[in-house]
Amino acid sequence: MSADVETIIVGAGVIGLAIGRALSAKGQDVLVLERHQMIGSQTSARNSEVIHAGLYYETGSLRAALCVRGKELLYDFCRENNVGHRQSGKLLVAVSDDELPKLHAINDQANRNGVADLRYLTRHEAIRMEPNLTCAAAYLSPSTGVIDSHGLMQALEGHLTSNGAQIVLATSVEAIGRNGAGHFSLATNSDGDGSSITCSKLVLSGGLHASELGDMLRWRTGYNVPRTYPTKGHYFTHMGPAPFSQPIYPMPVGAWLGVHLTLDVAGQTKFGPDIAWPKTDTQDQHGPFEPDYGFDDEDARRAGFAAQIRRYFPSLDPMNLQPGYTGVRPKIYREGEPVPDFAIHDAADHGQPNLVALYGMESPGLTACLAIAEHVAQRL
Ligand SMILES: Cc1cc2nc3c(=O)[nH]c(=O)nc-3n(C[C@H](O)[C@H](O)[C@H](O)COP(=O)(O)OP(=O)(O)OC[C@H]3O[C@@H](n4cnc5c(N)ncnc54)[C@H](O)[C@@H]3O)c2cc1C
Repeated sequence: MSADVETIIVGAGVIGLAIGRALSAKGQDVLVLERHQMIGSQTSARNSEVIHAGLYYETGSLRAALCVRGKELLYDFCRENNVGHRQSGKLLVAVSDDELPKLHAINDQANRNGVADLRYLTRHEAIRMEPNLTCAAAYLSPSTGVIDSHGLMQALEGHLTSNGAQIVLATSVEAIGRNGAGHFSLATNSDGDGSSITCSKLVLSGGLHASELGDMLRWRTGYNVPRTYPTKGHYFTHMGPAPFSQPIYPMPVGAWLGVHLTLDVAGQTKFGPDIAWPKTDTQDQHGPFEPDYGFDDEDARRAGFAAQIRRYFPSLDPMNLQPGYTGVRPKIYREGEPVPDFAIHDAADHGQPNLVALYGMESPGLTACLAIAEHVAQRL
């Protein structure tokens, strides 16, 4: 007995779409199932839209390798498919002398990751480039850029469909089993209508819902499903003329990149995201949930942002900061815990051939999406 479809991908975010493109390009019969009415309406629509160079991540990690490879693939893809993007470069800034060791350590880390193009700028050189900046020194990262994430997802959708793949929206996967023929059997729900479908290969790319999907693999006892801790970040947009011509990144705090400035492809300046760690274990996402995208505590948050931003942009008028939007990171660790790598699980992790499950696909997942897709396609 053959399966209904060769390959099902659960989740039409930027990563699920990129994987669908790669597998359909290999000739697989692909179906993408998405619970929302449109593609890419969760994390892929609520991020900084930065094409990261690959500076910060631990050498040898999937994050580092897939970011550096993904960046090159993404620039090529954008050029070939007219996806809005700008290789703007970015300034990584030390605001005081005591931050200089950290600044140089990031350059060393970038070199170890194969990103050898950072250019050191003295205080005067950096301020000549960006007159509103104050800093002790900076590095220019020329390969950093910004991208229109929606344009990217539309282009990926176009490739998928022209490869013969299908995307079915408003369809939630609610249970996963394995039938007698060894195929995966998925119970789905479309607006209250239950159905089931079988496939021989399965990719779980559920973003914030990754653990929920992993928990459905009940027939595999002993599989240690990573837990997801949804971690919100807020953005303020900046009213008035853009004060900088390129992204400005202060020194990171642990794995958080600090309140940085980015410009989208249309030139709108925004600051953020901050980081609102889940306070208790109850926010460990153990069952179906909807992320909270509300913008909390506007006045207190504006004051906090202003204090951070004024360290590198002293003439900021806080009243120019308008609440923008929020995004929620699908973290698989809590505050203070060691930062794990992207968790891309295959048979070596869960014991099931022809199944790839992705967890903790936070930044730089947008940059890395095409390289993540290559990585997954090699396993299926
Ligand atoms: C605040 C923030 C800033 C970021 N900034 C950057 C950046 O500047 N550069 C960068 O490279 N990366 C950035 N990222 C990371 C990047 O946005 C993510 O890595 C990427 O968007 C993840 O894509 P995804 O497809 O895994 O997830 P999503 O976009 O969340 O897609 C998952 C999809 O799966 C669907 N789904 C889940 N469960 C089911 C189910 N049971 N049935 C059917 N469908 C289901 C969901 O509805 C959703 O559409 C940022 C992330 C955040 C939160």
